[in-house]
Amino acid sequence: MHIAPIDTGWMEVIVGPMFSGKTEELIRRLRRARYAKQRVGVFKPALDDRFSETQIVSRAQAALPSVSLTDPTQIIALAEELEVVGIDEIHFFDERIVEVAEELAGRGKRVLLAGLDLDFKAQPFSNTVALMGLAEFVTKTLAICMVCGNPAARSQRLASGGKDRIVVGDVEAYEARCRKCFKPYPLPQQTTFDQT
Ligand code: ZN
Repeated sequence: MHIAPIDTGWMEVIVGPMFSGKTEELIRRLRRARYAKQRVGVFKPALDDRFSETQIVSRAQAALPSVSLTDPTQIIALAEELEVVGIDEIHFFDERIVEVAEELAGRGKRVLLAGLDLDFKAQPFSNTVALMGLAEFVTKTLAICMVCGNPAARSQRLASGGKDRIVVGDVEAYEARCRKCFKPYPLPQQTTFDQT
């Protein structure tokens, strides 16, 4: 995909809507690093537990062990011995994730970051935008619009999520939509999707 920098760290950001294969792409890159016997660690935000060993899983059921945490600054100490650091769901971390990624790359690590670039109103997540600007490499994955089949860069919320910017959900709560088919939530005709 690209030539790896030599004797320096760098950042690779993978962004896109839901159902676009971001985590799958993250896992693919991390696996290749593991095949090369590089020291790889994976982190993701914990939304309930403070700290736990678990895994990141793509929709295609690829999985890698990962550490879940709420405070992104913990990654710096945990990644001390690592050469390659993967961080999934960057949009769920608070803004300190930006300085953490910079710090890790500054220490010579390859830092792989994946997450949503837009929320359910199609408003950019500031963390993701900042990381896209600071990264050496940016990949935008697209889904397929579940209404018309066009390339889809937006995540349409279907179920009732109130005003919360972040609602954890999956196929029952979201659809990938193209620009033409995307409708900012809420819409009156979508009340039939309310699950509360
Ligand atoms: Zn469409």
